[in-house]
Amino acid sequence: MEEVQEFDIAVIGAGSAGPKAARIAAAGGAKVVIFEEALIGGECLYTGCVPSKSLIHSATLWNRMQRASEFGLPKWSGGEIDFGAIMRQVHRSIEEVGGGSALDSFSRQGITTVCERVRFIGTHTIETSKTKVRYSAKQFILCTGSLPTFPPIEGLEAAGCDTNRTVFEWKTLPKRIVIIGGGPIGCELGQVYRRFGSEVTILLNGKRILARDDADTAAVLSQQLISEGIRIAIDITIEKVERRGDEKVLLLAGGEVIVCDAILVSTGRKSNVAGLSLDEAGVHCDEGGRLKTNAYLQTTAPHIWAAGDVTSEYKFTHVAAYEGAVAASNAVSVLYGKEPCCPADYRVIPRVTYTDPEVAGVGLTPALARVSHSEEVIDIARFPFAHLDKAIITGETTGFVQIVSLKTDGTILGAQIVGTSAGGLINEMCLAMHANLPVAEIALTMHAYPTLPEAVEAAALSSSDAPLSPCLDSYVARE
Ligand SMILES: Cc1cc2nc3c(=O)[nH]c(=O)nc-3n(C[C@H](O)[C@H](O)[C@H](O)COP(=O)(O)OP(=O)(O)OC[C@H]3O[C@@H](n4cnc5c(N)ncnc54)[C@H](O)[C@@H]3O)c2cc1C
Repeated sequence: MEEVQEFDIAVIGAGSAGPKAARIAAAGGAKVVIFEEALIGGECLYTGCVPSKSLIHSATLWNRMQRASEFGLPKWSGGEIDFGAIMRQVHRSIEEVGGGSALDSFSRQGITTVCERVRFIGTHTIETSKTKVRYSAKQFILCTGSLPTFPPIEGLEAAGCDTNRTVFEWKTLPKRIVIIGGGPIGCELGQVYRRFGSEVTILLNGKRILARDDADTAAVLSQQLISEGIRIAIDITIEKVERRGDEKVLLLAGGEVIVCDAILVSTGRKSNVAGLSLDEAGVHCDEGGRLKTNAYLQTTAPHIWAAGDVTSEYKFTHVAAYEGAVAASNAVSVLYGKEPCCPADYRVIPRVTYTDPEVAGVGLTPALARVSHSEEVIDIARFPFAHLDKAIITGETTGFVQIVSLKTDGTILGAQIVGTSAGGLINEMCLAMHANLPVAEIALTMHAYPTLPEAVEAAALSSSDAPLSPCLDSYVARE
């Protein structure tokens, strides 16, 4: 009989969730193996956050160079970008961020790494695809990520379209780009390509971009993208896509025809579970194909846990790593004969779209707050960057900070920020919500002058929970 290598915990996938899960499990005393079929670092490092943020950085610098004269510098006298050079920089960023050997760091922590694809061949046994080596484990953590989805449009895939899996390999910049989908990926990359000189059209089947974000913050971004020359077309039905020579032709309901050189599809993600033979292990997906898990991130098989994009509603790197830690903590508890100890807590999840201006949010938007609370108890405090000294100095006055709280006791329900560095600014709101601080505590915290975070303080100061001054409140009756 073939030898089976035995472990306490097997982690499948080494993107953002898997390494965190493996490290926590090893730190908890388990004998751990992690499997990766491609490159350690996964989507975020190679085809997601890192390359997109590197491209965004180049596009932002290019934009600021063109605005130089606003700051008293010599007027920008033109010039061409070298897209190939920019993409080489993107790949240098990937190398540097990935830096060092993940394999070495795993082995220092006593984690065995196997660089192969695996699938289940029994409830507790998996097999590598090429070498056919078998591994058994008491607990498994599935961290296999997600894949881009394609809308069911006749001819779309045959005409040749791109996703985040292929765009970072582009060597030249397409002249005319159509982006299907107006979520974070579509907006971020659409703005980048427009700033580098492409004609960009974003096609939506709904009414607005960033449909999951606060409508007012999305509207600020929408206005900015349009002002830069991006066409955003709403309520669109694409009936058919054809390839004519090197061109792609989109035929829309209503008769419009759009001709372009590249189509970027960014319409959503699906759990990457194909080929895992999950049925062998008793793991089931829901009707939409998402891996089902309970509050402890336990799948329908009690000894199998899942973390990250493969199961999460929140497809972010920070959530994947958090869920990896939660799943591993529970797997280790069960390994020691205890109950799962750690339910996933999604109350404070920051979400950021790294456009210029950035769009960030945490907790409830005003619209969602109205679903769970009556209008009379909700306070919405807003402070525009146009009134903030630092933003005026740097010429970045677009946007605002908005805090949604309860009038009764200042409990913060959520916050939305649109503006420069919104992604960094939202972290103060995350800390306040995590620590259950009322909005008055932000108002009472001294913020350095002149800085962008003062906008958070100013929004808090305009909330109904804000104190009149650090000490007057106890003496002066408030209206
Ligand atoms: C363009 C883009 C930009 C993004 N920008 C941001 C951002 O700025 N901030 C942010 O927070 N999030 C961002 N995200 C989302 C983020 O990249 C994902 O949420 C995160 O990478 C998910 O991590 P994961 O570990 O769940 O999955 P992944 O990183 O996809 O890792 C899964 C790993 O499992 C491996 N695998 C799969 N099946 C098997 C198998 N059978 N055997 C062995 N190995 C297997 C895969 O090869 C892969 O390496 C972005 C995503 C995209 C597409």
